[in-house]
Amino acid sequence: FLCCWGVISGAAEYVKYKDPKKPLNVRINDLLGRMTLAEKIGQMTQIERENATAEVINKYFIGSVLSGGGSVPSPQASVETWVNMVNEMQKGAMSTRLGIPMIYGIDAVHGHNNVYKATIFPHNIGLGATRDPALVKKIGAATALEVRATGIPYVFAPCVAVCRDPRWGRCYESFSEDPKIVQEMTEIIPGLQGEIPANSRKGVPFVAGPNNVASCAKHYVGDGGTHNGINENNTIISQHGLLSIHMPPYYNAIIKGVSTVMVSFSSWNGVKMHANHYLITDFLKNKLRFRGFVITDWRGLDKITSPPNANYSYSIQAGVHAGIDMVMVPYIYTEFIDDLTLQVKNGIIPMSRIDDAVRRILRVKFTVGLFEKPYADLSLADELGNKEHRELAREAVRKSLVLLKNGKPGNEPMLPLPKKAKKILVAGIHANNLGYQCGGWTIQWQGLSGNNLTAGTTILDAVKSTVDQKTEVIYSENPDEDFIRKTGASYAVVAVGEAPYAEGFGDSLNLTILSPGPKVIKNVCRIVKCVVIVISGRPVVIEPYVNMIDALVAAWLPGTEGQGVADVLFGDYGFSGNLSRTWFKTVDQLPMNVGDPHYDPLFPFGFGLTTQPVKQN
Ligand code: BGC
Repeated sequence: FLCCWGVISGAAEYVKYKDPKKPLNVRINDLLGRMTLAEKIGQMTQIERENATAEVINKYFIGSVLSGGGSVPSPQASVETWVNMVNEMQKGAMSTRLGIPMIYGIDAVHGHNNVYKATIFPHNIGLGATRDPALVKKIGAATALEVRATGIPYVFAPCVAVCRDPRWGRCYESFSEDPKIVQEMTEIIPGLQGEIPANSRKGVPFVAGPNNVASCAKHYVGDGGTHNGINENNTIISQHGLLSIHMPPYYNAIIKGVSTVMVSFSSWNGVKMHANHYLITDFLKNKLRFRGFVITDWRGLDKITSPPNANYSYSIQAGVHAGIDMVMVPYIYTEFIDDLTLQVKNGIIPMSRIDDAVRRILRVKFTVGLFEKPYADLSLADELGNKEHRELAREAVRKSLVLLKNGKPGNEPMLPLPKKAKKILVAGIHANNLGYQCGGWTIQWQGLSGNNLTAGTTILDAVKSTVDQKTEVIYSENPDEDFIRKTGASYAVVAVGEAPYAEGFGDSLNLTILSPGPKVIKNVCRIVKCVVIVISGRPVVIEPYVNMIDALVAAWLPGTEGQGVADVLFGDYGFSGNLSRTWFKTVDQLPMNVGDPHYDPLFPFGFGLTTQPVKQN
């Protein structure tokens, strides 16, 4: 009986939107009907964490806050620090006239990767190689739990890009070059959000409960198809091509109740996606019946007019008219708010468009349960980086490994490796660098180098803990011939690959492995039997070395649980991964994807040798 009373305009009244027993649409309409223009535009505004004091949120009715790539309260912030920060901001929202909670969003793209000691799962390219949607679903659920542990109800994931060119710096965020695999991997959505009930209406966002988060399919659409793999560039493709290659994952995401869709920085045939009314409104909202909200990418509106921000007012008009609901501003929010307000007042943007945006945003907030429980507590604190999640990540690493070569022609297979050997040489900087192992979007936007960034196991640690007690493991980053000969190891594990990068910083025309990788391969593999492990966000130039290598493994960006690599190398488990991408011979073949007429890869899409597990005591 005491439920849902409030004082909104003078006298105490029963407030329908506060009543969880009322149908969702009734609550949304009731609340929307009470809102002023300023309150509505505030809902459409998402600002950066650094700006988001309770005061600012309160004053401008800010609807959402984000941690942009690696924006954290402090480098090793504890769960408690995160929860307190989010709650502090929430006070600003809850003390507005209508008490509409803000929704906090973060890039949890391979686990809760901004947070110290969270479980870091393999990046999507590796998950694509597992071909195991059920596993990926579990990863979604584990990620959701770790994100909720820090008081956050919304993630900017999954990236459902179909990367068609590995020169793109975001290729590792893509599950595959094949739309079918990306479609299957959208199972991460029911992992993150919970399983949508079978009788749900298509397109309606769904979040099961307090251990789940709202998710975001990104970047709509064609982000993985840009010219020469240049980040944020133009995707030149027919409508048929767009719909059959880049669109399919969105069909699945929408059926699975994805809450939000993020628009791509890229263009389709010269038109900026952020201004594409046809694809956002006519196709996504009307044809596919998507009922969640559409969010811009980081300052996405500014890029509609070039040079960026050349005519911000026009950008706002074009973007909001195209169907964008929430705008990641993220710093210069007053300009956005003032300008949009004026455009509505002047009739340039109709109130119906604003209402549509706000309705969608409120729907997601109600669905996430923010109205019933706006503040987070510390009850999930122990879930961050818990043992079970680390085991799951380790399993994912095992299944993501693709065995590309096992023994020189005419020789015995080299793998699995014997645990009992007198000496094993481990070589290469990638064998002992957790930062390299995790790649970009880990603790920092561009990733980090070294072992102190967070908790985890390097490949070197893993080899040491797997081999026989009497086996001596010798490590060298860059051993010379003398050293290798003196060591007299029975065999070598060599790890090479890329250094971390994110987004356009990772665009690359040559796709070479980081120096001194090639030299390490040549030195070591000439003298000792060697298995080379490639730690990279995509296929890299490996053809010149393949003949000198005894065994070759693609390990992608496996994350914190390096133990998964040793589990398979030493035969506790078999190799089972298959390439989710085509492995090219030379970069001048690119782009080259399965099904292309002149397909001539080094290792074709789907390739992957297998081994059987062996007992070694
Ligand atoms: C990226 C998005 C990300 C956003 C927020 C952008 O630069 O393109 O994928 O979600 O930043 O951090």
